[in-house]
Amino acid sequence: MAGNELQQYRKELDKLNMELLELINKRASLVQEIGKIKEKQGIKKFDPVRERKMLDTITKQNNGPFENATIEHIFKEIFKASLELQEVNQQKALLVSREVKPEDTVIHIQKQAIGNGNPEFIMGPCSVESYEQVEVVAKALKERGLTFLRGGAFKPRTSPYDFQGLGFEGLKILKAISEKYNLAVISEIVNPAHMVEAAEYLDVIQIGARNMQNFELLKAAGRINKPILLKRGMSATISEFINAAEYIMAHGNGQIILCERGIRTYEKATRNTLDITAVPILKQETHLPIIVDVTHSTGRRDLLIPAAKAALAIGADGIMAEVHPDPAVALSDSTQQMDIPMFHKFMDEINGLKRRLVD
Ligand code: PEP
Ligand code: MN
Repeated sequence: MAGNELQQYRKELDKLNMELLELINKRASLVQEIGKIKEKQGIKKFDPVRERKMLDTITKQNNGPFENATIEHIFKEIFKASLELQEVNQQKALLVSREVKPEDTVIHIQKQAIGNGNPEFIMGPCSVESYEQVEVVAKALKERGLTFLRGGAFKPRTSPYDFQGLGFEGLKILKAISEKYNLAVISEIVNPAHMVEAAEYLDVIQIGARNMQNFELLKAAGRINKPILLKRGMSATISEFINAAEYIMAHGNGQIILCERGIRTYEKATRNTLDITAVPILKQETHLPIIVDVTHSTGRRDLLIPAAKAALAIGADGIMAEVHPDPAVALSDSTQQMDIPMFHKFMDEINGLKRRLVD
């Protein structure tokens, strides 16, 4: 009877499945032993010549009904899984991941902290142009009780003919103002050879979007004892961003602040597209604090306040925005920086939101 026959075949199939399972695991145990010997002798685990030989021997003995190509495919999958079993480091979680460190990392800078639940504001001009220019901004920040000042001295400009920044002269201006006004200063470094010297002037070193995958710069940042503000590359996926942070941490420096600054998309209404959900994703996947740069992400003054509100509401640890005494004459990013009255309006609105969130 057909029904009985089917049941009989299925019973046999179940038995064969169990035999295959046992055999495949027996093979895996052997592979693990081989892996240990290879590890001791320093031999590479992947051996394509040996794999080829095994496949040839197997297909020569193949009497079907499976075609040789099918058999090769199945065995190649077994080889691949075996190789993964031999790689001890295969599943190693990233140092920046929540898996490795479940609690939030708080970055301490002078007496301030980023990532302790109280959002910080990192404001200042796009570029350091003169002592007087930075001082006007520093005074305004102080008036509002802010403690972080930003300003670019090494500017990675799209055109080689645009203002490239004052270099170390700019860092000296920032340092002098930081001491006079008791502010922590942040500035971008673009050359790995400048890292150690720059650390003497700065409280936080920024790695900009254009350098997020400059691996030598990331390694140099990993070797110093100074907080690093790492900006997301304009075409970087979240995973690439996380791996860039991992470079810094793997080289010894775990004081990393991530910064979402918008990514390049087809949308032209804003300079970049602010990827707002990157904030909670990065919070879930890493233990690092994350801030949002509302200036470079939007490129529009009229969007700075709503974008900052959205960033705080979604859980950002801070906001970065550019402020210039007279944006119209700024040497870089003149269309998107706030002037001083607008900066005060910005802070009023944000403080209003903070009050509403607490009530
Ligand atoms: C900056 O913050 O000065 C800057 C150049 O930003 P980004 O690297 O995000 O473009
Ligand atoms: Mn700028």
